[in-house]
Amino acid sequence: MKLLTFIPAAAMFLVCGSVGAESLPLQSVNKAGEVIDAAIEAHGGAEAIGNLNSLVQKSEFINFATGQSRSPGPPFDQGQQENMNVIDLGDEIFVTRNTGQGGGYDYDGGTIINGDNSWQLNYRADTAAPLAEPDYHTQSGPFTRVTPVLLMKQLQSRRAQSNWLGEAELDGRMHDVITLVMEVGPALGLYIDQESHMLTRMERVLPPFGQIEYHFLDYTMIEGIAFNQKFKLYANGAENLIIEVKQTELNVPVEQYTQVPEALLKIAAVTPDLMSTNEIQEGVFLIGGTGTYALFVEMEDHVVAIGGTQIVAASITEMRKEIAEKPIRYGVLTHHHNDHVPGAAAYAEEGATIITFEENEAVVRTASGDEEAKLEFVKDRMTLTDGKQTIELYNIGPTPHADNMLIAYLPEEGIIFEADHFPQPRTGPIPPPVAATVAFAKALKKLDLDYQIIVGAHSPRVGSRADLDAAMAQYTDTRISAR
Ligand SMILES: [Zn+2]
Repeated sequence: MKLLTFIPAAAMFLVCGSVGAESLPLQSVNKAGEVIDAAIEAHGGAEAIGNLNSLVQKSEFINFATGQSRSPGPPFDQGQQENMNVIDLGDEIFVTRNTGQGGGYDYDGGTIINGDNSWQLNYRADTAAPLAEPDYHTQSGPFTRVTPVLLMKQLQSRRAQSNWLGEAELDGRMHDVITLVMEVGPALGLYIDQESHMLTRMERVLPPFGQIEYHFLDYTMIEGIAFNQKFKLYANGAENLIIEVKQTELNVPVEQYTQVPEALLKIAAVTPDLMSTNEIQEGVFLIGGTGTYALFVEMEDHVVAIGGTQIVAASITEMRKEIAEKPIRYGVLTHHHNDHVPGAAAYAEEGATIITFEENEAVVRTASGDEEAKLEFVKDRMTLTDGKQTIELYNIGPTPHADNMLIAYLPEEGIIFEADHFPQPRTGPIPPPVAATVAFAKALKKLDLDYQIIVGAHSPRVGSRADLDAAMAQYTDTRISAR
């Protein structure tokens, strides 16, 4: 440990030619080096941490659905997950599986990152899709960030990029704060207790979400390495995630986890989802990419846009290639969730009237970034028409996903646009319905709409009435939680 801190000092001596005052950046790197050495020692020592090559961990998650609950404001709904993470650092293998419920959804999915043999697994649809562009660092990042020993390994190998930021008091104890820059993502600020040298907290700023805080709790030694048994994550000061670690295995073979189970049907590869424009029928465009889409409907002298995700601004630019002149008169938001309101800003900028629910006014005004944004409230239904083209909006809420939820129906074309209720995979068979899908199907039946096409805010797939029927036909087989 002393030897390691000596090396940068010697290097400085050669560069400067005298043992004068260290420059501020050099002081910062040297001080960070000292803090890192002591922390590595406290978390198990350089040898034990250096020899850690694989890790298998099982945990239980409770997540707070901040901005993703059924109602716009607190208290937020809670979801539950069981999680397994497997990492092999030498071979850059990462395997994860998540099972859980929340927001009217049941999850059971996994990812295998193993070079050319990488897969995305869906245990609800019983499918396995090859990953065309597996990214070990991006995929393993979330697990690394909640696992102190993996952060220590990062500090070990990237120490020259760490800076000492200063001292801070946390819960009455003094901490050194150092930075860690990982392969991907914004820099992390690590709080190392000055007495115990343990990592107790970490922070990073993640636009547009804000400040994320990581709390590492209940350390215990497992085979000579410190593992926290509990973890809490705060987003902008609000509790967002609690993890209870249930099982930890070190340096075990990981081959068994990299095999695709026989029962899964191998389907087409998952490829990057580039920006695309699909004219579903004349004057009706589904435009988006990277998993989010908006629907644009050409009217006599204006355009109606439906959907409120982050992609809206870029989708409007694409839409202008099809419809150059007509203004967007209405921007329709499906619901209040934080990934379905950012489009309000683009609509406000276009001077469009934003259609939403009165209950969502505060959330939508904030998202629009414009106190003067024009809002129009819908209650149960609303019709937008120019005499020829008609768009009917229906509130299908309350559903297990949101108290108020708008869908759009184009009676002329028999098209329905929905968000978050019929998660259609980009490729492969339609999985059994989640609770949200059941609510959606029941609402369509009750409204007695004559539709043939279903498109959604999260898939480029142009689905059909038969697809929804196929999902519902599997209803009895599913493990839908009673909510
Ligand atoms: Zn949602």
